[in-house]
Amino acid sequence: MHVLRVIQRSQILRRQLHAMSSTKLPIVVLSGPSGAGKSTLLKKLFANHPDTFGFSVSHTSRNPRDGEEHGKAYWFTNEDEFRKLIGEGKFIETATFSGNLYGTSIQAVKDVQDQGRVCILDIEMEGVKQVKRTDLNETCTFIFVRPPSVEELRKRLEGRNTETPESLAKRLAQAEKELEFANTPGVHDKIIVNDDLAKAYGELEGHILTKIRGDS
Ligand code: 5GP
Repeated sequence: MHVLRVIQRSQILRRQLHAMSSTKLPIVVLSGPSGAGKSTLLKKLFANHPDTFGFSVSHTSRNPRDGEEHGKAYWFTNEDEFRKLIGEGKFIETATFSGNLYGTSIQAVKDVQDQGRVCILDIEMEGVKQVKRTDLNETCTFIFVRPPSVEELRKRLEGRNTETPESLAKRLAQAEKELEFANTPGVHDKIIVNDDLAKAYGELEGHILTKIRGDS
């Protein structure tokens, strides 16, 4: 009975993702180590194109940081609730990062697409791999933002003052894995080295706008 329900859910998920992938608008999947500057770049993109893009608001079991709003930065939830939602088949992808759960719900992407906007996902490596295995793969453009070096990344994360020594160490270890994964040929459509914010932003915006024009 349980197996049957799991199969049914995965069929429903496939159908939903297939429907979402038939939209003309591309989906932008932004990834890169924590601290590489993805959020800063995205803030600039949303400010410059307020009606074009929409952020896929992920669920997370981590605690909110100062200034992070529920429903804007994330849907903050506890681990039990998160696992219940996973069981109900609500997510396109989920991952554990630095001891916390993160996931993109079907609804988060649908909400943006229903507004006629280009949906932007900010997710880590395991999530990228999962998205690539779905029907959404064809619709997505995968962009990787990397720091100039791991040392620079450490400085940025330390300067942000959001991490304990333990969580900083976990994020740096994870960063090494993400950087290695990004070396795999063909996994990303665009790799941006964020050593100069204005330059990195120009590359990001240029790639996305070209993609939108090309697909419309
Ligand atoms: P932070 O805790 O710094 O907000 O995010 C940590 C990492 O989790 C970042 O690399 C971010 O891109 C990633 N992340 C945020 N939301 C999701 C999600 O829904 N799925 C996955 N796989 N990663 C996410």
